[in-house]
Amino acid sequence: MDPATFEPTVQIRDGVVGSRVAEAVTAIKAAHFAMDATGKTLADTPLPMVRWVLSKDFEADVRAFLSADADASFHADRVGGRVAAKTMSDANGGYVIFVNGEFLADGEAQAETPTLVFLMLHELAHVLQYATREGSTYEHSSSPGSIGRALHNTARYAIDEWRADDLAYFLLPHLAVVTDIETGQPTPASAVHTDNIGYLATMEDVTRQLYPRLRDRVQDYRIHHISLEQLVDELVTETFSLVVFVAHWHALCQALGAEDPWAIGDLSSPAVNLYLRPMWTPILEAINALPKIPSRVDAAAGEPELLDAAVEAIQLFLAALGIAIDHLGGMQEYVHVDAPS
Ligand SMILES: [Zn+2]
Repeated sequence: MDPATFEPTVQIRDGVVGSRVAEAVTAIKAAHFAMDATGKTLADTPLPMVRWVLSKDFEADVRAFLSADADASFHADRVGGRVAAKTMSDANGGYVIFVNGEFLADGEAQAETPTLVFLMLHELAHVLQYATREGSTYEHSSSPGSIGRALHNTARYAIDEWRADDLAYFLLPHLAVVTDIETGQPTPASAVHTDNIGYLATMEDVTRQLYPRLRDRVQDYRIHHISLEQLVDELVTETFSLVVFVAHWHALCQALGAEDPWAIGDLSSPAVNLYLRPMWTPILEAINALPKIPSRVDAAAGEPELLDAAVEAIQLFLAALGIAIDHLGGMQEYVHVDAPS
């Protein structure tokens, strides 16, 4: 595999970007090939072309791209609720990464912020993930049932986000610098210098409002205030946002060196021990059993089991809410609703 095939075309629209894009690409490439030395080789993954658009008019640019390319599929990354970047496949088997320039600094696209460098690394990690899974059969849920598909999708997304963050935090200090307030000297940037640090406060809010809201919703169904369909729709949507958020939050805590992420801040809500910790712990164990960026061979051997483990853990979360699904993965899924914890 020739590293030279991973040279991106850097396309900048209405924005300013320094040499960091090229450096981010180099770092990801280095991380990619460094794996060779550890036996976790990625050499069997052909790396696609990547085109960057640092866009001031993000939504319009993304829409224009999507309407011009009917084959495009996309992945959106949000920071603080707003979409910060979108990675999309294009018709030529490559990828386009749109970064929301407006998001980064009050309407001015800034090239050198740790947040932007982090985003670039994170999106490039996604490209590696997609390239690794190209042509694989396990990427899409085999389940014909809508709940089974939704839980598979949730598991896939959360795992991808955690891994992309993990790699981006790892590489960030090599690419971004900040000025040390005390010494005035440039010093390597870390997770603390990114906008992601806001996840800590968000996590406190998230856990605080989960309980008893979710169990109340289940009770609403049990006393016939809402339909089963409404309950399941709400829970599936909520579970997706929740698991993906926990993935981002946990990757941040790990980057900050936290031994016990659940001890950071005020996470005293019963939701933590009832729902979140029992769900996330087995997912993380399963993720850590595989390399950070699995090769195609590793991925084909390990990813299906990882996805199954994650779906099972997400079912634990639903079970704590009194929801059990029979024949998950079958044509007909049966939902049982019991008293929530
Ligand atoms: Zn992402």
